[in-house]
Amino acid sequence: MRHITIIGAGQAGLQLGLGLLQHNYDVTIVSDRTPIQILHGRATGAATLYHTATSLEQSLGYNDWPEALPASNILIEMYTPGGVLPIQTQLSQPWLTVDQRLKHAVWLHQFSQHGGRIIVNPATIEDMDDYARESDLVVVAAGKRQFNGLFKRDDRRSVFDQPQRRLLQVYVTGVHPWYAATNPQAKISFIPGVGEIFFLPIYTNLRQRAHILLLEAVPGGPFDPPHLPTNGPDCLATIRELLAVVSPWHYGKIKGAELSDGNSWLAGSFTPTVRKVVGQLPSGASVLGIGDVTNLNDPVGGQGANNATKFAHFLCKRIVERAEQPLDPAWMHEVSEEFWRYSRYANAFNNGLLVPPLPHQQHILLAASHNQNIAAEFIQGFDNPPSLFPWFIDPAAAERYLAAHGIGQSLPFAV
Ligand SMILES: Cc1cc2nc3c(=O)[nH]c(=O)nc-3n(C[C@H](O)[C@H](O)[C@H](O)COP(=O)(O)OP(=O)(O)OC[C@H]3O[C@@H](n4cnc5c(N)ncnc54)[C@H](O)[C@@H]3O)c2cc1C
Repeated sequence: MRHITIIGAGQAGLQLGLGLLQHNYDVTIVSDRTPIQILHGRATGAATLYHTATSLEQSLGYNDWPEALPASNILIEMYTPGGVLPIQTQLSQPWLTVDQRLKHAVWLHQFSQHGGRIIVNPATIEDMDDYARESDLVVVAAGKRQFNGLFKRDDRRSVFDQPQRRLLQVYVTGVHPWYAATNPQAKISFIPGVGEIFFLPIYTNLRQRAHILLLEAVPGGPFDPPHLPTNGPDCLATIRELLAVVSPWHYGKIKGAELSDGNSWLAGSFTPTVRKVVGQLPSGASVLGIGDVTNLNDPVGGQGANNATKFAHFLCKRIVERAEQPLDPAWMHEVSEEFWRYSRYANAFNNGLLVPPLPHQQHILLAASHNQNIAAEFIQGFDNPPSLFPWFIDPAAAERYLAAHGIGQSLPFAV
């Protein structure tokens, strides 16, 4: 039986590990924390999953959160000099946000219950060499953790060389009730030059319904906090202060809210980076990096966990198809290039959201605020970024797209 070792019990590592167990592989997950430590640890990125990734997770059979509130009615607000454009749709296949602390703790426990082996160890490169000696494949799925340049930056595919946003996030309970027939369940506000505000339901580590409030601040802009908070109450207070100035609507909704637990906050920044997926260990053995460790996106388009899930699922299939053939560096490269044919669109879409919309994108967003079909297609594009291309990057294609929806070049309203 083939033995696969996975470093990291997060979104990518667990999806892969549980998937391989279903195919009767001998799988070891090396986790830097036990399930209990994960459950009660610091919150991760909120990781809203769209329909495709949610279905892939559900296909594993371990999603035990019937009380989690899906978000079907989605409102994206685009701030423009001419006013706020509301782009709203009712999704037939909703978004779902389950606190990764709950999901990963439960999944890691399930993994061991179903025959997977867990090693609790913050793995080093030297450890990986040991694992490589006794495994047919070592997959590194350790999130943002870097291992002294084990995975080299891919300059051709990395668009940025510094953080594009400063992130402040809390999970809160006691939000002012705002569910009404006309109201969205998830509200995302894009404010060019300032940043973005994400306000969505989440099912937390303590199995409570709560809300995520994520502020993405353009460095140096009005949302950029004077200092990065160092604890939960400070983070919530900083978010409140910033919202009171920039978005009184949000402020009104959270002024009486409280952190869902003492660890339900994060603050920081990182540089979106694509890395080469094959890393070479001191012994000369190769490891394959998946998820954030080799493709780190800003949270702005919610692609990170979605992408990690899709890649892990895809990789599982390719490992099984490979049967007894070697899982060597040439194969690792081939598999990841194949997945890149999809994920390059996810990256391009996500990176595009970090800069003010181009004129042809503004036309489409403007049209989406008046046309239900375009609004629905745009919002569904978060789940399937290739569907937004080529119009997202090509003005002529955008014109054709609008014409196909019966909208001419001269729009009746100004942006
Ligand atoms: C503020 C914020 C909001 C976000 N919102 C979204 C969203 O709405 N939608 C979305 O799709 N994505 C979102 N993301 C991104 C998403 O959280 C990540 O892309 C996703 O979790 C990546 O999965 P992963 O498996 O690569 O890493 P992770 O899920 O981070 O898992 C890595 C695991 O490896 C462990 N580990 C680290 N080092 C070691 C080691 N040396 N040895 C053993 N274990 C180790 C870690 O503790 C962790 O358990 C968001 C991110 C942030 C920061």
